[in-house]
Amino acid sequence: MNSGSKWEVVIGLETHAQLQTKSKIFSGSSIEFGAAPNAQASAVDIALPGVLPVLNREAVVCAIKFGLAVGANIAPRSVFARKNYFYPDLPKGYQISQFEIPVVSGGSLSTPVGAGDTVSQLTVHLTRAHLEEDAGKSLHEDFHGKTGIDLNRAGTPLLEIVTEPDMRSSAEAVAYAKALHALVQWIGICDGNMQEGSFRCDANVSVRPLGQAELGTRREIKNLNSFRFMQQAIDYEVAWQINEIEEGRMITQATVLFDPASGETRAMRSKEDAHDYRYFPDPDLLPLDISPEWIGEIGKSMPELPQQMQTRFSGQYGLSLYDAAALTSSRDIAIYFAETLSHAGAGQAKLCANWIMGELAARLSREGIELSTAPVQPAALASILKRIADQTISNKIAKDVFDALWRGDGKDADEVIDARGLRQISDSGAIDALVDEVIGANSKLVEEFRGGKEKAFNALVGQAMKVTKGKANPVQVTELLRKKLAN
Ligand code: ADP
Ligand code: MG
Repeated sequence: MNSGSKWEVVIGLETHAQLQTKSKIFSGSSIEFGAAPNAQASAVDIALPGVLPVLNREAVVCAIKFGLAVGANIAPRSVFARKNYFYPDLPKGYQISQFEIPVVSGGSLSTPVGAGDTVSQLTVHLTRAHLEEDAGKSLHEDFHGKTGIDLNRAGTPLLEIVTEPDMRSSAEAVAYAKALHALVQWIGICDGNMQEGSFRCDANVSVRPLGQAELGTRREIKNLNSFRFMQQAIDYEVAWQINEIEEGRMITQATVLFDPASGETRAMRSKEDAHDYRYFPDPDLLPLDISPEWIGEIGKSMPELPQQMQTRFSGQYGLSLYDAAALTSSRDIAIYFAETLSHAGAGQAKLCANWIMGELAARLSREGIELSTAPVQPAALASILKRIADQTISNKIAKDVFDALWRGDGKDADEVIDARGLRQISDSGAIDALVDEVIGANSKLVEEFRGGKEKAFNALVGQAMKVTKGKANPVQVTELLRKKLAN
């Protein structure tokens, strides 16, 4: 959105996070992805008459962990409800969800948004998070004019996480979604696999004239399964809504789909054909009772959270909000950072952050590998950082050392440095001779410098580095050169 716009964008997100349990939320079937159609559909999942649902305790544990992680209220007693609608992949004719009393309500999630000088902290308030079962899947492609039904996914445990309409741009929506995506993986309740549908978002989007308190009419973009699509879909939708209003038409509440091929959103159904779900408490399930003791026990098992870690990193190591957030964007990165520092020493925090987000991150993305399988692990990176810090090598040579370790040439920095003679020249006798040599060979530059040209001095330092192939200690060279030229 351009800042000159007279429209304000309002976004609320609903996210379905598939919970990392072994079995389904109300049956013992596996939820593992990729099985042959209907191989993981039990009598409960296909809704044979007479079967009864039994709540999976582990799904409740996941919901409690989430509630604790976002500082929400965890209901001492919540209720499962039937959401009634007809669809071929919903054999019971209703989905078991939570309606009036969800297990989790309130709480918030904060994350930096923007980059560089424009980083600010975004806080999104959560309305609720409730437990529900997923539906099955209709397969239209392989059945020539018929529809196949795969009930493997039916009964998969989901946590639906609903925000207040707190976001004001597609960038904010994506920042929140990424933070949520990182958090659910961090606390181990969702694998975050967006291709497999383990984490999918619906974006509710409206616009209103700047300064107007009342919300505009929203349209809901369904099933966004990548952050890039989320950004594109919201941007398209916002421009479309503004154009509609500016041309004198009204927005009608609707559910829309995003088509990645055209980059457009298209109405699927309007409010007039919205379902009346006839929610009512499911008589087959007892209310869900959660004791303070149970919450306390789960609380004790929780890891340090990304936000707490960000605060600690910036306090303890003096890192910027941006650095701290990048280092806690996944638990793998945070652990890698902490482990590298434990070898290199806390004094190297900023250097370490720069290397992880610079050289290492670039390498990982270029070669498409995960941090856990990176050829340079924390101890090896720390061995490089230590040699930069004690001036055995320059930052520039360090990149060559990193490259060598990445390719498996050597087990740590010292081995590479010794094998290739990369050690920085810091011996004062050698530096002395080097400086004399440079002064002798560059009389024109020396003259220019004495005539007041500071640039010539840098050129002389450059010559010293060139002669030694970057190995001379630049601090020593600079000092000695100044001293000698001052005479
Ligand atoms: P429903 O029950 O139809 O799903 P909710 O009131 O639960 O509707 O809202 C669903 C989502 O839409 C929430 O994330 C909420 O913040 C968001 N939302 C509600 N009204 C608006 C609006 N006018 N503009 C943008 N988002 C909205
Ligand atoms: Mg909703």
